[in-house]
Amino acid sequence: MNSETRQWLEADWDFGWHPFTDQSQWEQSEVPVIVRGKGVYLYDSEGKRYFDGNSSIWTNIHGHSHPALVAAIQKQSEELCHSSYLGLANAPASELGRRLCGAAGMDRCFFSDNGSTAIEAALRMELQWRYQRGETGRRGFVAFENGYHGDTLGAASLGGVGRFFASIAGMGPDLTLARDLVELEALDPERIAAVVIEPLIQGVNEMRPWPPGMLRKLREWCGRTGVHLILDEVMTGFGRTGELFACQREEVRPDYLCLAKGLTGGCLPLAATLTTAEIYEDFKGPGRTFYYGHSYTANPLGCAVALASLDLCEHQSFLERIRKGAEVMGETLAQLDELSLVKETRRCGMVAGVELVGDRQGAKGKEACLRLRGLGLLTRPILDTVVWMPPLASSEEELREMGELFVQALQ
Ligand SMILES: *Cc1c(COP(=O)(O)O)cnc(C)c1O
Repeated sequence: MNSETRQWLEADWDFGWHPFTDQSQWEQSEVPVIVRGKGVYLYDSEGKRYFDGNSSIWTNIHGHSHPALVAAIQKQSEELCHSSYLGLANAPASELGRRLCGAAGMDRCFFSDNGSTAIEAALRMELQWRYQRGETGRRGFVAFENGYHGDTLGAASLGGVGRFFASIAGMGPDLTLARDLVELEALDPERIAAVVIEPLIQGVNEMRPWPPGMLRKLREWCGRTGVHLILDEVMTGFGRTGELFACQREEVRPDYLCLAKGLTGGCLPLAATLTTAEIYEDFKGPGRTFYYGHSYTANPLGCAVALASLDLCEHQSFLERIRKGAEVMGETLAQLDELSLVKETRRCGMVAGVELVGDRQGAKGKEACLRLRGLGLLTRPILDTVVWMPPLASSEEELREMGELFVQALQ
């Protein structure tokens, strides 16, 4: 280890505190210090190169340091890095709101900073909308077991992953956790404001796809019962499933569409909660202000790079490439299914989970990821499932190389 690497690691061990991390295991663990990214690769301070097999926690789309995205940040930073969105407008935010509503078929765009706040904003809008209409009985939410919607108190309260949220049990809104659509039929809809779901595939639930047609049926149930539909596309948005937005696969228009991770192509923290005119119009007039926002709401740098990313996403070949990439990933997964260590593989578009035979405590998943890291591929385990979520811009050849490393590591 070179002396710079040692210095950075020691400062991290002595002063840092990492998310979702047992710090007792972390202090003294010699992890890569990432200093550079280019295309599908990340480079550490020792000069070692890795595939970014986790898309930097599901954010990266076009590869690292894409010239068009770097140029957009550079150009915007020379003009304006930040000014408040309170009482003022800014050009990239105006344009991005228009473009996102157009692309998603929604009417209004509310900006925030990350996936958790995109969900939190939808919850707060929904509670206020019901309140303004005097529907005070409808204050409950429905979410799905093992779902994940972020870490702010409201968003976390919708989470269905027990091990993450045990310490805040009972702190949030009135929540019903459902396993499937059948369980919804037994609920009293007059108590429920909205249902929230990760469409097509649950991410943190070890990459588990929903049955085809499920989203469409959920939309129909919402239509029958007057319950609003909040779609959490923080992970699935911007091409990951082979559609620009996952809900487009089943031609579903939600009441709220929450976007974050891929919104800036994986460059800067920015999020959007898109909603309908029906909801928005009710927030006009005295006493109907939506008292919610952050210092960096509609940050011009984030909006400028999001526009450049959306340009790339709307290129004719973008979705075709993803569908082809998904096929290539499918070929590797079929090979992995033959290995005795592999219990099951799951995939939706260009996101996959490789579940290993293990005790479901995560030791196997962790070991596999360490082995992959040694071979030059970075990814993360969720319990004993290894996530494979490469940048959407990965070439067929790069995907095949990653696939070979998976086979090598798990054989
Ligand atoms: C990552 C994620 C979130 C939370 O987003 P953050 O930007 O980490 O706050 C919410 N929902 C889903 C489905 C996610 O994958």
